[in-house]
Amino acid sequence: MIITPSVLLAALSIINLNNLSYFQKTVLFILFIFIIAGLFIALFLLIRKRRNLNETIDLMDQEYNSIINEINYGVYMSPGDPDEHFTYVNKAMADLLGYENPEELLSCNMRKIFINPLELSNFLDEAQTVGYVKNKHLRLKLKDGSSVWVSHTARVIYDKKFQVKTIYGVVQDITDRRIVKQSFLRSYEKLEHVVEERTRELIEANEKLRKEIEEREIMERKLRYYATTDTMTGVFNRMTGLVFLENQVNIAKRNNTHIVVCFVDIDDLKFINDTYGHKEGDRLIIRVGEILKSVIRESDTICRMGGDEFLIIFPDCQIEQAVKIWERVEIQIKQYNKHTESKYPISFSHGFAEYNPDKNISVQDLIANSDKEMYKMKNIDKHTAIGNL
Ligand code: GH3
Ligand code: MG
Repeated sequence: MIITPSVLLAALSIINLNNLSYFQKTVLFILFIFIIAGLFIALFLLIRKRRNLNETIDLMDQEYNSIINEINYGVYMSPGDPDEHFTYVNKAMADLLGYENPEELLSCNMRKIFINPLELSNFLDEAQTVGYVKNKHLRLKLKDGSSVWVSHTARVIYDKKFQVKTIYGVVQDITDRRIVKQSFLRSYEKLEHVVEERTRELIEANEKLRKEIEEREIMERKLRYYATTDTMTGVFNRMTGLVFLENQVNIAKRNNTHIVVCFVDIDDLKFINDTYGHKEGDRLIIRVGEILKSVIRESDTICRMGGDEFLIIFPDCQIEQAVKIWERVEIQIKQYNKHTESKYPISFSHGFAEYNPDKNISVQDLIANSDKEMYKMKNIDKHTAIGNL
């Protein structure tokens, strides 16, 4: 379009107007008028388009500014030098830092709003080297000197020498979030403390319970011991001995095996009591129990029937075997009497009775039989002793 009039003028300069007819001149004039009119119209349209474009840009600028001003995040633009004034701040930024309006804050600079100079220099270093910082938590200084916790995100524009030219920053007040976080942390710490306390209490309660169980077990063991044991000699008491024998008889019935019981009665305990005292009589009973225990097999059992009487139970045994075991008892007694410094020898009588599964004999009868045998022996011994006198 711009080329057209210049081409026309060039053409006119070549053409000699004097050689043209009146008609040709008129046509040329009309053509010229049209071209000039066209040029004006084009210029008008161009200006209008430019104006529309400017209006659109202004409108967008306003919208952009109103958006930036409306958002709750503080937005700022600062030169790279932290001592130079901000070039832009939005309303939220001014509100956040307690300034009357953005204009008031525009007279400040980065150095003024950073509470910690070290944080500012770290921020500038990072911005210079990386080109941005993202969600950095730091404290900014308010106009009244107090501080506010913010999340700071910024991007940097460099100049040709790769120096920070402009910093665009967005700042979000996270004081509430920090308060919530801190109160959450406090609650969490409290909870942790409570859990720790409860755990400690639980451990203590467990330990107490464990001790109680242990004490109860010890007590039960003691009770069982006192319930089943003759405390003077440490062998089973009468009741336990009888239950044990009853049980062995049942096993013998099932397995078709024999049992031997041996009734033992200390000789002349009354005499020893009367002569050397009841305590010496007790010592004799204890010693007899020890000698019997030291000789019998692990599978055999002794119980004190009462007074100076013991019953030895030999399970899965016949009289021949029991007699052999008894020989060991006699050897022990002889050894003891030979070496003892006691004023009297130990002597006791015994009698065997055998349980035969083929003959249905009761526990009481079995014991009675062994008792009878023991008396027979005692009488023989006594008569022998009298005869020897
Ligand atoms: P024997 O030779 O005929 O067996 O006569 P013994 O003197 O041993 O008397 P016996 O077996 O008939 O009676 C047991 C006596 O033992 C009766 C009682 O005075 C005494 N005695 C019973 N229990 C105890 C006890 O626990 N300690 C003491 N020191 N003596 C007891
Ligand atoms: Mg006796």
